[in-house]
Amino acid sequence: MEYRKLGKTGLNLSLLGLGGFHLLEVDFHTVRNIVKAFLDSGGNYIETAHSYGNGLSERKLGKILPKNGIIVATKTEARDAETAKNELMQSLKNLNRENIDILFLHSVTRDDDWEKIKREDGSLELIEWAKKKGFIRYVGITSHGYSGTLLKALKEYPFDLFMTGINYYDRFNFPEIESEVIPYAAENDIGILAMKTLADGYLWRNAEYAFRYTKRFPVTTIVSGINSMEQLEKDLSLIHKTPLADEELIKLITKSPELGNYVCRQCMKCLPCPEDIDIPALFLAEGRFDRQMMDGRIGNAPDYAIRDRLAHWFGSEETALSEFNSIEPGPDKCTECGICSNRCPYKIDIPRKLKIVKSKLEEGYIW
Ligand code: SF4
Repeated sequence: MEYRKLGKTGLNLSLLGLGGFHLLEVDFHTVRNIVKAFLDSGGNYIETAHSYGNGLSERKLGKILPKNGIIVATKTEARDAETAKNELMQSLKNLNRENIDILFLHSVTRDDDWEKIKREDGSLELIEWAKKKGFIRYVGITSHGYSGTLLKALKEYPFDLFMTGINYYDRFNFPEIESEVIPYAAENDIGILAMKTLADGYLWRNAEYAFRYTKRFPVTTIVSGINSMEQLEKDLSLIHKTPLADEELIKLITKSPELGNYVCRQCMKCLPCPEDIDIPALFLAEGRFDRQMMDGRIGNAPDYAIRDRLAHWFGSEETALSEFNSIEPGPDKCTECGICSNRCPYKIDIPRKLKIVKSKLEEGYIW
């Protein structure tokens, strides 16, 4: 197992981390086997959250985890200090520990979450108290989807680490993760943990490329939700692969079936539009809205079912609407001249997609 330094903390984490959410889905015997095999393979970073099954994931882990030699993290989604304190105390009890290495403020995706957290009596107060009391050693923050709030939080409070999704699908829906958040964290020695390497399972056809894509970034650990021994074995084999090379990335972005001829790659080659429509900006707003998952085609049922389940997973719709409403002119101005589609290297039917964007974001139709 490879180990990497976690920012300024002095901790060395295994490159593969075990995420606790999917441990909810399997019986205790299976959880025990997975955790044992993970530790035997050299894994040392295990994380869970109070909200995973209302403490059930923590309770399962609390019965198994050794007291020493591993790094344990949990999360609180509470925004006020009192609830966060109650949750932390319960988490310690569930995990059967007197203290934990890392507490994350969980799912801080919207500006109003961050405003609540940092105000008087907000959960940052609990963080400071718990650090002084020795209940936690380091403080992290997690975010899903739109990451403008995450960046703001990293700039306003000295978090030791953060965790967010990094994968080759959502790079086109939340590009600020790669272009702003990761560079800021790397420059300031803030630890970076990656999750959702497979985009919540959507990239299952290309798991090897997905892992190798995430390894292109300066991440300490790739956290994987594992609920079977087969999956653990697969992840252990993938974690050692080399990062994706530039030419492989170009091929992947061109050929990936999940991106296909619908997801905008933000290459800007369709511009300028004769009607001055900022086509990539409208498609980015659609990405925030439903990750460009719902393309108006049914295709096969399993594929549709997974897209339907994941489209609104992150709750970035408000950001989508605010961005969409600030873009002038809107999709209405499209005359269907087709010049843009001829320029698009990914063969996206742009006039059709603009109609879909209008339907989702202007007419309020939730796909
Ligand atoms: S050319 Fe195609 S992929 Fe590139 S920005 Fe325009 S619509 Fe998106």
